Amino acid sequence: MVSESGFSLTQAINFEPLRVKPNASLEHVVTLLSQTKASCVLVVEQQKLLGIYTERDVVRMTAKSQNFADLTIADVMSKNIVSVNASEVTDIFTVLNLMRIHRIRHLPILNELQQLIGIVTPRTIRKVFKPADMLRSRLVRELMETRVIQAFPLTNILDIALLMAKNKVSCVVIKEENTGLESYPIGIITELDIVKLRAQIKDFSWIQAKEVMSNPLKPIKNDNTLWSAHEKMEQENIRRLVVVDGEGKLSGIITQSSLLRVLDPLEMQATIKILQQTVDEKTLELQDKNRLLEKEIKQCQIVKSILSKNETEYRNIAEELKIANQQLQQLANSDGLTGLANRRYFDYYFQQEWKRLSREQASLSLIMFDVDYFKNYNDTYGHLLGDECLRKIATILKKSIKRPADLFARYGGEEFIVLLPNTDLEGAIHLAKHICLQVKSLDIPHINSNISHCVTVSLGVASTIPKLNKSTQSLIAVVDKMLYKAKSEGRNCIAFI
Ligand code: GH3
Ligand code: MG
Ligand code: MG
Repeated sequence: MVSESGFSLTQAINFEPLRVKPNASLEHVVTLLSQTKASCVLVVEQQKLLGIYTERDVVRMTAKSQNFADLTIADVMSKNIVSVNASEVTDIFTVLNLMRIHRIRHLPILNELQQLIGIVTPRTIRKVFKPADMLRSRLVRELMETRVIQAFPLTNILDIALLMAKNKVSCVVIKEENTGLESYPIGIITELDIVKLRAQIKDFSWIQAKEVMSNPLKPIKNDNTLWSAHEKMEQENIRRLVVVDGEGKLSGIITQSSLLRVLDPLEMQATIKILQQTVDEKTLELQDKNRLLEKEIKQCQIVKSILSKNETEYRNIAEELKIANQQLQQLANSDGLTGLANRRYFDYYFQQEWKRLSREQASLSLIMFDVDYFKNYNDTYGHLLGDECLRKIATILKKSIKRPADLFARYGGEEFIVLLPNTDLEGAIHLAKHICLQVKSLDIPHINSNISHCVTVSLGVASTIPKLNKSTQSLIAVVDKMLYKAKSEGRNCIAFI
């Protein structure tokens, strides 16, 4: 009895239906119906089902003003029973179809021996079979019963029963009086209410609807889902809900049977179509998102590759820039002709060393030297050879000035300067003599020198322990003076202080 959908008929069977013997009095049966939640009694003898009597029968008889006294259930029960053998039921649709075809709400279930084993009603089916997704995807207004039998609060209860019986409905909605064509529901009377009344009061012809109707009414809005209708019925423990529109006007009725109509193959197709549409929409949405994502990924990859390419390029450029900067710095600090440090760098370096040696209180010496009669040299040999002469002097002296902290610079024109940190006067004089000899050893002919046949230099030497309150210029002035002294003393010599 378990179908492919997983629905088990066993679970949908109420194995404890109200059973009465055929000789039970009708009054007793009505009392039973009014006291229990059952909507029918099954008349059984020796496990054989003889008949069925439902709430609807009570209403029908009431409408006809039939007297209940002295009647047994056997007198009034329906003997023409639609029942089904449990072994014949393969799925939920068989059950629902049977109930629909025969327009019944109670389907007794028999065993192989034709003995009663239970009953299936919309209520029992709904309890086990909750096609939540289907209910969630459909709205109340799509499946509600729009044919609603209505009455006013002052309508006689007997007339209500008549209305129910005549229209074969299980409830009548009570609406406000004097609202013209509009119906504003205020209460509801169900078959069960009639059954209860019938069980309690013998003569109720004088009772009006307003005294019996359930109120306050708890209606549901027509744009709610069937699922919320289902939940509301469960919460309130009721079998039907009045449906209203946004303004509270009556739209219809939704019952447990309407909920089960969702399972009607036709309705189900509609539901499946809706679900399918939703799935299609979601799939399209997903596909769109996917496409977008793929596009984004591609763009990301492009950007990434551009970035990594840019990064390499950027690194290369940065490296080139660094080298260029170093070269620029070198150019800015060096003399183009000789490759020695220039005056600018000498000034900077001198400042640094001056401060450092002031703190150390160590000696700093300067040798300033100048090519003798160089104007004559240029005049004699031309400027190009003059340049060449200066380059030769620079090259040979670079080798003599070896200590890393020493600085050999071109001070200007044919004038050079040597800065000797941590060197006293004696050491400086020693180096000056060496420079003098080295230049001579180059043996660059100078026929227009007044003192030698070759190029010579005159040198001034000065030494001091730097002081922060004195400027570098003080020592420059001294060494310049010494050079001037050497010149005036005949050139090709050293003067010092
Ligand atoms: P003194 O012995 O008194 O130093 O005489 P001098 O002729 O060397 O001195 P003066 O200051 O009269 O002339 C210096 C000359 O050095 C003038 C200039 O043409 C030359 N000179 C300066 N810089 C350069 C240079 O870079 N290249 C060349 N070829 N000549 C230079
Ligand atoms: Mg000179
Ligand atoms: Mg000069």
